[in-house]
Amino acid sequence: MIIAANLKTNLTRKATHKYMQELDSCVQKSSQEVIVFPAISSLDAYKTDITVGAQNAYPVEKGAFTGEIGLEHLTEFGIKTILIGHSERRHILGESQEFIAEKFHYFKEQGFRIIYCVGEPLAVRESSKEEMLAYLYQQYEGIDTQYENLIIAYEPVWAIGTGKIPTLEDIADIHSELKKKSSAPLLYGGSVKVNNVKDILQVENVDGVLVGSAALYADHFCSMIQAAE
Ligand code: PEP
Repeated sequence: MIIAANLKTNLTRKATHKYMQELDSCVQKSSQEVIVFPAISSLDAYKTDITVGAQNAYPVEKGAFTGEIGLEHLTEFGIKTILIGHSERRHILGESQEFIAEKFHYFKEQGFRIIYCVGEPLAVRESSKEEMLAYLYQQYEGIDTQYENLIIAYEPVWAIGTGKIPTLEDIADIHSELKKKSSAPLLYGGSVKVNNVKDILQVENVDGVLVGSAALYADHFCSMIQAAE
């Protein structure tokens, strides 16, 4: 199982170092693969058994892109894993599918492990299954679904940070449809908590979870890692 934490714009560098310290002993006792995506200021918070990934980067080595970081910054910290297509970047930061595909190809060329997010908003979820799948499949446009270093995360937008999750049957159904598009490991994300993670991880075609708010405390995240054993 792949158990990943997206810390978003939370935890300062000092707090992240403490978090990683606490998490390390938990991860050492676990056979799961653990990935943490800290804020940019904490990209140096690596521990031997935890993969540290970038939440975002601009698809260039370096240059005039104010406020962004590029490949050179990631390389300095030994970062070889990146999150692309997260719903907050699509919907809040306004990243287009075209730009997301450009990022994908840039970091693919660099051999990065890519955790690629797809997910539908509530209005789409409430339409027909065909429309929902068409919406999700549109998020695969321009992406190499056969890339060997690809992990996909299905994260319904309406489930992120809301405490709402699809039924386990719905997760199984959508994951089986998404597996037809790509055989890459497929994570579920969206309001994964200590009390639902075990059930979610048992759903067919769920190869792990991507966790946001419930992963902000090392002990909570550790319980989720243990639930996967
Ligand atoms: C996320 O944003 O990737 C996420 C899954 O958030 P949360 O767990 O808070 O719903």
